[in-house]
Amino acid sequence: MNVLQNVLRIIYPDLCFACRELALPGEVLCLSCLGTIKPVASRLLPLRKRQTLAVHALGAYDGALHKLVVAKFRRSFPTAQAAGRIMAQLLPEDVTDVDYIVPVPLHWWRYANRGYNQAVEMAKAMSQELNIPYRPLLMRRKFTKFQYLLSRDDRHSNVADVFALRKDAADVVVGARILLIDDLCTTGVTLQAAANTLQQLQPSTIIAAVCARAIGQSRSSHFL
Ligand SMILES: [Zn+2]
Repeated sequence: MNVLQNVLRIIYPDLCFACRELALPGEVLCLSCLGTIKPVASRLLPLRKRQTLAVHALGAYDGALHKLVVAKFRRSFPTAQAAGRIMAQLLPEDVTDVDYIVPVPLHWWRYANRGYNQAVEMAKAMSQELNIPYRPLLMRRKFTKFQYLLSRDDRHSNVADVFALRKDAADVVVGARILLIDDLCTTGVTLQAAANTLQQLQPSTIIAAVCARAIGQSRSSHFL
């Protein structure tokens, strides 16, 4: 950090995104909000060919993590990047011991509307922090309706074949270990569909990690 940044930090200290107290230097949360993030058990989702996908989350979709995730509606790059760094630091090593970090893409229309993809910013920050290649291997084929508008069955058909591999995914070696990143897991159908598509690359492992996971009924149906 240079002198000017230090001076600016004194004049304009970073405030915690969750509670507006003083944040840790260069971060978006304060120490006490960071301390409220408690790991939740990973969740197993069924994939095609009798495979399963373990979804790891920093914590429940509540409190500080809820505030970090909803920051996407404000196009907050620093918040998404900070969330990615926190994920890189707090997720277990066996989760982040991979060859590629792959974000779940947004449809171009939603991307154009929102201006950025939070999962992409998180994945890029994780890639930098962990020194693991960032590879956007997926693209969206069709525009999905907002999941919260649909019943549980409709959510599955809404995203079943929504993803396709990008052309440059062809150079991914068979047996690669892939970490799939999204900001939020509610029903899990988006991660399932993305992982099913990635299986065409014949990786040895696909693991998913999200910033927050909706547990029970708490705020679970707001969006995705
Ligand atoms: Zn705080």
